[in-house]
Amino acid sequence: MELRGLTYPVSMETNIVVMGTESVGKSALTVRLLTRRFIGEYGDIESIYTHRFMVDGRETVVNIWDSPYSETPLFERKVRWADGFVLAYSICDRASFTAVTRLLHAIKSSRGCPHGDRAPVVVVVGNKRDLHHRRTVLSEEGRLLALDAGCLFYEVSAAEDYHGVLAVFHSLLTGVKDAKLSAKRPCTGLKGIVKSVSAVFARRRTDSI
Ligand code: GDP
Ligand code: MG
Repeated sequence: MELRGLTYPVSMETNIVVMGTESVGKSALTVRLLTRRFIGEYGDIESIYTHRFMVDGRETVVNIWDSPYSETPLFERKVRWADGFVLAYSICDRASFTAVTRLLHAIKSSRGCPHGDRAPVVVVVGNKRDLHHRRTVLSEEGRLLALDAGCLFYEVSAAEDYHGVLAVFHSLLTGVKDAKLSAKRPCTGLKGIVKSVSAVFARRRTDSI
């Protein structure tokens, strides 16, 4: 993915929400992606940032909602709004990892059919990798959680690793793009199989006449 401010015509818009408990680095991850900088303190400001990125050669307007932790009705609104989710925890904070597990379930049940057109694209992110001496959540635990839920997984340090943060958002945007394309395809899933089987039988009947 190229990350540059561009003036090409807009062809796609993607909404991403960054979730997780307080102080896991949601703002640090977002600001790192948008400015390449780690500024240390971010306050409690809730923001939706809009930025233009190139994803696989196509310009994409990305709205990133850096949101505080909540299980209020606003949660439902965020889930409906989002095409993709970054669920962040700190590798030094087990409670934040447990919260991501809860969020995953809440998002899946709020979206309804897990394999439907609106199946969420999620990346689970263990942040603060630079603090590995204070680690309380193993990499394997994060990876297994993501595998079980059919999500992407990264461990990164917003403080020290811009490219890791870039990889998180790149894979999420690619996943959202692929999900949107496959949702547009007319014959997918069971309906598609039924149609293909009917087509084969129809052909056989015609052949035998
Ligand atoms: P938020 O509440 O989830 O938005 O968390 P913030 O982005 O405000 O970060 C909370 C604190 O963690 C701040 O003091 C950040 O400087 C710090 N922080 C965020 N990411 C990292 C990281 O990757 N490594 C380290 N060491 N500190 C981080
Ligand atoms: Mg914040």
